[in-house]
Amino acid sequence: MQQENRAGVPPQRSAPPEEHLISMAEKGPFCSAACTCGWRGPARRARSLARRDAAAHQEA
Ligand SMILES: [Zn+2]
Repeated sequence: MQQENRAGVPPQRSAPPEEHLISMAEKGPFCSAACTCGWRGPARRARSLARRDAAAHQEA
């Protein structure tokens, strides 16, 4: 049996490969950055510092 693919529709993937999408997580007074690759930034009191950690991770 063969499966027919509809033209122009790429197969869906559950997880994007090697993509670094940062999300911010806040816990009480602290804020930390988390990445889709599994990386997690240290807890920061300032959100700007957490974003800085994330930016440094994405550049690396
Ligand atoms: Zn990452």
